[in-house]
Amino acid sequence: MDPLVLTKREDLRLIDLFNQEQVATAPGILNLCLTCGTCAGGCPATGVDGWDMRKAVRAVLLGLEQELIDSKFPWVCTLCGRCEHACPMHIDLVRLIRTARWLRPRDKVPGVLHKGVEMCLKTGNNVGIPQEDFLFLMEDVGAELAEELPGFSVPIDKKGAKFLLTINSKEPFGEPEDMKFWWKILSAANESWTTTSDNWEGVNWGLFTGDDEAMKEVVRRIVENYKKLECEYLLLPE
Ligand code: SF4
Ligand code: SF4
Repeated sequence: MDPLVLTKREDLRLIDLFNQEQVATAPGILNLCLTCGTCAGGCPATGVDGWDMRKAVRAVLLGLEQELIDSKFPWVCTLCGRCEHACPMHIDLVRLIRTARWLRPRDKVPGVLHKGVEMCLKTGNNVGIPQEDFLFLMEDVGAELAEELPGFSVPIDKKGAKFLLTINSKEPFGEPEDMKFWWKILSAANESWTTTSDNWEGVNWGLFTGDDEAMKEVVRRIVENYKKLECEYLLLPE
């Protein structure tokens, strides 16, 4: 598996990163902010550590972006997009938050999120389940379901299946019974489907850590499987 080359973060500034993709259409888009506060009004994270989205935008414009990056605010934001939807100036506020997350050094990313990203890049899933164990589990849980649905087995790498089903690794890791719900639904609908023997992780933690390069790589692998197996639809667990 090729190592992922992460973007260097030295000398990066949030406002430059934020604006670089907007330059062609809306230079200095953060400057469009009216300080109306509509973004903060409906945000569930407003007030955490004394921050809100209006203040975040102001901080970046005033050169105080490091204070935002070091704060809890970008990490308690749910990325729900409500602020952005409400903003009368259509500022890309979710990307602002994801960029602030990205500028946090990786060893300061809260919880296990970055470790999960690294693990997914290395092993194909966030918790590092080896392929052999995964295939054994699929066979085992599939055999349990066969007691209820005679003839059932988990289709792996089935070419031409209509649906490619990705999996949330927390299920094979700790809640394998939950996988049966999807399998039962697809069986009841009499749909053809498959999952894959590698890169089956459907939860992309690069989204949450602001790591676009990692996120793209995980998506690329899923799309590669999807094309290789000639599926029609892709199902993501979250
Ligand atoms: S995306 Fe984040 S900042 Fe915006 S409304 Fe949702 S929680 Fe609040
Ligand atoms: S809603 Fe938009 S214009 Fe109003 S304060 Fe928030 S970012 Fe600025």
